[in-house]
Amino acid sequence: MATLLQIIRNQSLQRFNTLAFDAIARHYLAIEEESQLVEAIAFARERGWVHQVLSGGSNLLMRPVIEGLTLHMQLQGISVLEQDSHALTLEVAAGENWHALVAYTVSQGWQGIESLALIPGCTGAAPVQNIGAYGCEIKDVLLRLRAYDCQSECFVTLEAQQCQFGYRDSLFKRQPGRYVICSVQLALQKSASAPVNYPVLRQHLSESVDHSPKEVFDAVCKVRSSKLPDPAVLGNAGSFFKNPCISEQHFARIKAQYPDIVAYPQHGEVKLAAGWLIDQCGWRGFCDGPVGVHEKQALVLVHRQGGALTQLLSLAERIRASVKLKYGVELEIEPQFFPLSS
Ligand code: FAD
Ligand code: NAP
Repeated sequence: MATLLQIIRNQSLQRFNTLAFDAIARHYLAIEEESQLVEAIAFARERGWVHQVLSGGSNLLMRPVIEGLTLHMQLQGISVLEQDSHALTLEVAAGENWHALVAYTVSQGWQGIESLALIPGCTGAAPVQNIGAYGCEIKDVLLRLRAYDCQSECFVTLEAQQCQFGYRDSLFKRQPGRYVICSVQLALQKSASAPVNYPVLRQHLSESVDHSPKEVFDAVCKVRSSKLPDPAVLGNAGSFFKNPCISEQHFARIKAQYPDIVAYPQHGEVKLAAGWLIDQCGWRGFCDGPVGVHEKQALVLVHRQGGALTQLLSLAERIRASVKLKYGVELEIEPQFFPLSS
């Protein structure tokens, strides 16, 4: 079985994580077929190895040595399952690049995911984080997904309501390691106009009420490129902390002291812009050797080469402590440790 599986020993994962930390996977396997996944998980289990799933590596804090078996999802394929004159169901394999998929749907005149342009990574990881930007989330269009359930050792179909989607959260974060997502089904519209409810985005669009998916896609790409670092140029994992949600009472106390605080109502709570809190604590543009805080968006921590994860975590801890001291708010790290425990 091992010869068929082409497992590579001591594979460097530096180019497979967007923070570009040096890391070694003791055993590494590219998954190009679902059947390989089943074999590989059984193979790891027989040897007492843990396994972990890697996609684009853009939402990960990679530890220096990754024991067990690292499964790199590279399943490919996009197909229209059904369609009529108004809508369609698109099935997309987990290893398809997310931004390329968004660009493809927009080029076909399909509406639904144009606001999620330029999010790095692969389609199979998108439900894990319930990716979101500019007021849209993948849960808005996801119908169901196919996954391998490592607990029952069979493929399952999970409907959207079974995925327990929340704000940058899902079943897959709550039960890590249980499901390997193999494909997703998305409900897209054949609509000439795309809704835009996010003020910052609207500023980059014409005054007209209706915008085509392509116009929204172009505006998103323009805004994002102007303020977010390209991981190919500067190592980063996007937002390093989640936007904290606090009670209205807690918010009222902070607001009394800091009237300019940036906040948004969110399901009975108040969501604070973590980037604003960090900026107000003076961290934007801060540099500590190879790690630092991006000068245009304080929520993004960066790695300029040659540094270690411990240095970035030490900076993150100092940022967390200063935000806690000034505002009494706890920041939670958004990217996931890889593997989860050391
Ligand atoms: P990885 O980083 O490889 O994996 C992330 C997690 O999902 C890991 O725990 C991994 O084990 C698990 N996983 C991966 N694939 C599978 C699978 N097939 N089945 C089960 N588990 C799996 N996120 C947003 O929500 N909105 C944004 O606007 C956004 N912008 C970003 C901008 C930049 C510049 C960067 C660097 C990141 C940004 N992110 C954003 C974060 C990240 O791009 C997304 O979370 C993305 O979906 C991660 O995909 P990935 O393929 O890189 O996943
Ligand atoms: P931004 O527009 O400067 O806004 C800062 C924060 O305020 C965002 O985090 C956003 O929350 C919130 N916000 C702004 N307008 C809002 C509104 N009308 N309603 C509710 N919340 C609002 O943010 P940015 O850094 O340029 O990012 C733009 C979008 O891309 C955001 O949606 C952000 O989440 C997403 N993004 C995510 C990552 C990641 O790694 N997770 C990285 C880069 C960008 P939300 O984050 O809840 O939208």
